[in-house]
Amino acid sequence: MKRKTRFFVQTFGCQMNVNDSERVAGLLASRGHEAAPDAASADFVFINTCAVREKAASKLHHSLARLRRLKKQRPELRIGVGGCVAQLEGRAVLERASHVDVLVGTHNLHRVPELLEEAEATGRTAIDLDRKADPFAIPDHVVAHGSPVRAYVTAMEGCNHVCSFCVVPRTRGPEVNRPAGEIVREVEQVVARGHPEVMLLGQTVNAYDHGGVDFAGLLARVDRVPGLRRLRFTTSHPEHVSERMGDALRDLPRVCPYLHLPVQSGSDRVLESMRRGYTRRQYLDTVAMLRSRVPDLALSTDVIVGYPGETEAEFEATLSLLEWVGFDALFSFTYSPRPGTSALRLPDDVPAEVKSRRLAAVNDQQQLWQRRRHGERVGGREEVLVESIDAPGRVSGRSRHFRIVHLAGDEGLVGRVVEVEITGAGPNALQGRLAQPIH
Ligand code: SAM
Repeated sequence: MKRKTRFFVQTFGCQMNVNDSERVAGLLASRGHEAAPDAASADFVFINTCAVREKAASKLHHSLARLRRLKKQRPELRIGVGGCVAQLEGRAVLERASHVDVLVGTHNLHRVPELLEEAEATGRTAIDLDRKADPFAIPDHVVAHGSPVRAYVTAMEGCNHVCSFCVVPRTRGPEVNRPAGEIVREVEQVVARGHPEVMLLGQTVNAYDHGGVDFAGLLARVDRVPGLRRLRFTTSHPEHVSERMGDALRDLPRVCPYLHLPVQSGSDRVLESMRRGYTRRQYLDTVAMLRSRVPDLALSTDVIVGYPGETEAEFEATLSLLEWVGFDALFSFTYSPRPGTSALRLPDDVPAEVKSRRLAAVNDQQQLWQRRRHGERVGGREEVLVESIDAPGRVSGRSRHFRIVHLAGDEGLVGRVVEVEITGAGPNALQGRLAQPIH
């Protein structure tokens, strides 16, 4: 790109997609281009996509339809599509959207600036979907972290699991771990840039294993980075939870006592069909092992309802597992058949209205539980890292257990750890007032 471009990056999907977008935005900025506040004022709109459910993938096509209209008014507008849908659908994206100028896979985001140049020079779509490229090719020092507080740092990419419903191994390929030294260096950089919290990312981050360093070893090394206040990580797979990991959660001072541990279902028949690699009993034993080490551990999970063949009794097994564990937060999804997954061979036979009813039932049960659990915290204190301004005079942050806490305050509090007296609670957040600044 010779002339200065105003770019806008739009993200759909998980934290990994957010981090990929931060990398692309940082890379473009490092080449002298400028971030635009929205698509309407940009010369280049890059959409980073998620393919995990059909609804997420169809968001891309809605955005592309809007951008087609914008491009009719401004033919010089350039449009890029990257990430999971680009990798999964490949050139088929262009059949529905011939106005796309740049198409890049999950391993080729570092090529966005030159592909844009190529598209401008040739007037044709520039494409790179090579899965063998290095997914970590964008240098860490350029990353444009979206939050001044929490910095995402990728520990590993891809996934070696074969869950029947999941498209991720196809979109992101097999596991690639970064050397621990590189991860630690990136954490040192983000801490030096003022981020008090780091979240290590990976599709199965606790499967991390590189050069003799396992996940607990990685946590121990990152935990020692001077100036780091809080360390989190996501997403963990139950099969890779070890006693060493439980000990790390208990013993490392910056590691927060919060774990996202997707269970997907409470039924052994469904778990087996999903190829999750554990039974209900084994999942519950893992939770018990963790809680014996970290009694106040906060846990959240993902569940899928309406998986092929899911009976009422199997669904109730999920409800009872949720009740048994008492998760602090729940992310629930209705099953969505995805291309190239093995579950596609099974009939998607749970009617849409049954899926919706089951989704509502898990969410209702969870909301009741969260309301009760949060209510118990009223009158107590929480150590809160303030993250953002909600409205003039109002800020919010997270407790060490990842609970959202709203309080009165101004931008001077953002990035600070404060002690908050909890005065109120709803199912999704706590309210409080400043007890005393800690630092
Ligand atoms: N492995 C990644 C992670 O957990 O960080 C990505 C998983 S995906 C973004 C998060 C959740 O989406 C999964 O745990 C699962 O509950 C849900 N999910 C994945 N594939 C799905 C599908 N085909 N239908 C419905 N939900 C799905």
